[in-house]
Amino acid sequence: MTHAARALALASVVIGVASAHPNAQAARAVRYLMGTWCELTMPGEGASPGAAEAAFQEIARLEQILSNWNDASEISRLNASAGRGQQDTSRDLAVVTDTAAKLCTTTHGAFDPTIGSVVHAWGFDTDTPSKPEARPARLAAAHVRCDRVRVKLTPPSIALATDTRLDLGGIGKGYAVDRALDVLRAYGVTRARLDFGSSSLGFIGEVDGGWPVVIADPRDLDTPLLSFRIAQGAVSSSGQRERSFVGPGGRYGHIFDPRTGTPVASSLLLVTVIAPTATIADGLSTALFVMGAADGARYVASRPEVGAIFVEAGAGHDLRITTAGSVPRVERSSR
Ligand code: ADP
Ligand code: MG
Repeated sequence: MTHAARALALASVVIGVASAHPNAQAARAVRYLMGTWCELTMPGEGASPGAAEAAFQEIARLEQILSNWNDASEISRLNASAGRGQQDTSRDLAVVTDTAAKLCTTTHGAFDPTIGSVVHAWGFDTDTPSKPEARPARLAAAHVRCDRVRVKLTPPSIALATDTRLDLGGIGKGYAVDRALDVLRAYGVTRARLDFGSSSLGFIGEVDGGWPVVIADPRDLDTPLLSFRIAQGAVSSSGQRERSFVGPGGRYGHIFDPRTGTPVASSLLLVTVIAPTATIADGLSTALFVMGAADGARYVASRPEVGAIFVEAGAGHDLRITTAGSVPRVERSSR
């Protein structure tokens, strides 16, 4: 998106009218945040333009903390002080990094928030990613490991090992959804759906029959592939296609195997995770994408509060769709 288009998107809270809500003006709003469209629907009590604005402001505040795209963000400043011991941070940065670091341990490094040097070497923190030479790629991979980040919560502080860069791109949108939903609750909003570029989705309250969720076909994002309904919780999807480039040797995507420092290349096209919070759903969808369907399903079996849907390329143009853990009935809407 160009700067001009982005500025326009930021300036406008677009209010929808396609709603049976008595105060339709308050019921739907969209904003461009964290590099994607964020859509808020509030089909219940407490919906107001003020509540929507406060939720978007909360996400904009977190973007200033978590974005690797902005040299002035808190995470960029922390990365610049890697190797200099424990640095004081905001509570948000410490909390989300703590969750990410714990996920690194429980996923045996499939999810690793110290992936930043690798993401940077491949240029995925810019609009023009490209395959690095072998030597810088190897060097970047050497700075990635769960124990290269240390978090303390009281008072909040983080230490990064020398040349290690924190990257919370795999969990930050989910965290932002959870915090924005907290803001809406504080405004008295009883029902809400917050959809972050279809990659992170969170809800407040329940609707009759459950909240409908539609997952796009990873081969053609304009076509719906799967749909299901969930009573509560959050949903996140991860795939390589949305942020990828074609370079020497094929197509490379933005999800890396931290153990090799190279983009995950497998038959897996998409992983969707259902979890109690958007933070966990987001982190796990990235982790399960790295693990693959078989190891991912085994991991999900160890977490009763989580469900996952794996979409893999099958024979010919076919898809192989499998589920693990607590997943509602999934309908397939296209071939
Ligand atoms: P999206 O941002 O499209 O929702 P993900 O949640 O899967 O997708 O996050 C992908 C981002 O996470 C990458 O752009 C990168 O910043 C970061 N990342 C890539 N590989 C990993 C990994 N193995 N562990 C943690 N974060 C990762
Ligand atoms: Mg993720």
